[in-house]
Amino acid sequence: MTTVLLPPPTTTRPAVPRPRRPRRPNRLLGQNSEMRADGVWNWTLPALATRLPDGRTVNTCPAAGVCALACYARSGAYRFPNVVARHQQNLEYVLDDLPGWQRQMAAELAHPRYRGGWIRVHDSGDFFSDHYLAAWLRLMAFRPAVSYYCYTKEVRRFRRLVEPAPPRNFRWVYSKGGKEDHLLRPGDRVADVFTDDAAIRAAGYHSQDASDLLAVLGPAPVGIPANNIPQYRKRMAGRSFGEWQAERDAKRASRHPG
Ligand code: SF4
Repeated sequence: MTTVLLPPPTTTRPAVPRPRRPRRPNRLLGQNSEMRADGVWNWTLPALATRLPDGRTVNTCPAAGVCALACYARSGAYRFPNVVARHQQNLEYVLDDLPGWQRQMAAELAHPRYRGGWIRVHDSGDFFSDHYLAAWLRLMAFRPAVSYYCYTKEVRRFRRLVEPAPPRNFRWVYSKGGKEDHLLRPGDRVADVFTDDAAIRAAGYHSQDASDLLAVLGPAPVGIPANNIPQYRKRMAGRSFGEWQAERDAKRASRHPG
């Protein structure tokens, strides 16, 4: 009788899906040629809202109002796939690992290139949560050799978290066209978007067109000329964002009195 030698039984394990490696940018701050002339770098998130590759939908401008209907950051180069991917990558980082992002940002801000310079917090997007805003406030205190500024529509959040004890090296301007415009008070530094320079002057505002830093360092109130995007200009119909939002608010109030 012959013995047949069978190969030893093999065991197969069910394939375990490998966790997706988080995408993390090497450098967090960017700069274009215009900003270089002013010594400004910026940090950016997706404008308004985005759906991340893992399916999460995140609202990055919770206080946006009519501005969302004519948002400069939802058209043109901002829609290029590589730009969208980078902005989403930034957002994923702060959502999934805020302490890690804060450590990396603090390390980057220590570089001599930023000493005496300015960081614009958000080319697009806004302070979408208390945790995220608090992380920026810690960074500002931790890296005092750098100055920071922003446009924001988060009036309520700033009243609570920033205005009581603002960092020395932080300036902000409340930009109109948001759901919280009605909370603005005389004495607040405000910016509004107008159809052109003539409209800015006629309203008694001061254009920041020569340098974005004028938004926080120049005379106020601050006027911003609208981008030349035909469908946005049509929607504005000659109104500033502030006027457009006030019309909306008044209509809403008349539909829901009291
Ligand atoms: S807050 Fe700024 S970035 Fe956000 S939707 Fe409005 S204009 Fe766009």
